[in-house]
Amino acid sequence: MNTIIFATSNQNKMKEIREILNDIDVEILSMKEAGIDADIIEDGKTFEENALIKARAIRDLSGCIVLADDSGLEVDALNKEPGIYSARYMGEDTSYDLKNANIIERLKGLSGEERSARFVCAIAAAFPDGSEETCRGTIEGQIGYEPAGENGFGYDPIFFVPEYGCTTAQLSPEEKNEISHRGKALRAMREIIRQRDI
Ligand code: IMP
Repeated sequence: MNTIIFATSNQNKMKEIREILNDIDVEILSMKEAGIDADIIEDGKTFEENALIKARAIRDLSGCIVLADDSGLEVDALNKEPGIYSARYMGEDTSYDLKNANIIERLKGLSGEERSARFVCAIAAAFPDGSEETCRGTIEGQIGYEPAGENGFGYDPIFFVPEYGCTTAQLSPEEKNEISHRGKALRAMREIIRQRDI
């Protein structure tokens, strides 16, 4: 059976990818399970570049097929900030209560479509033969007027999805996976892997 390493230490992401790739005959390992410890500098300019930097680095260390992701929030009225800097916005250690309050404050006076935003997730695959693939999933929404909901993480409490009439922090994990940027990108990557017949 082929082995795929998913370059993350996040257990929630491991669970999600195992669920989505469960009908493909591969063993999926986290970096820890593969015995790999690496501090990779993500200095790309796009989500895809950052995902590729991670996937390539771990592929070179392991010789295995490696998947890696990079994601973030783009707010149109803020020139697509925080974008690839979503985790580092206002400092890595700043709480999301503060980050979310700051984004709401910066959108003061804007309404409806002027508050448009999206979550983006890029997934890269690096293969032992040197070939690479990337895919992207997005979910469109609007920045809410105040945080709402207890589920999810990060910017979920301020990410309002008009079709659902609530924020992604008010959806169950299963509901969110069905419509989320990460769920869509993972399903697109599943098709890429299937086509390569590994
Ligand atoms: P990473 O790709 O796991 O490093 O995520 C980058 C950052 O984007 C996270 O730390 C969050 O700030 C933000 N982010 C990405 N996906 C989500 C999501 O589904 N909900 C809320 N915030 C997210």
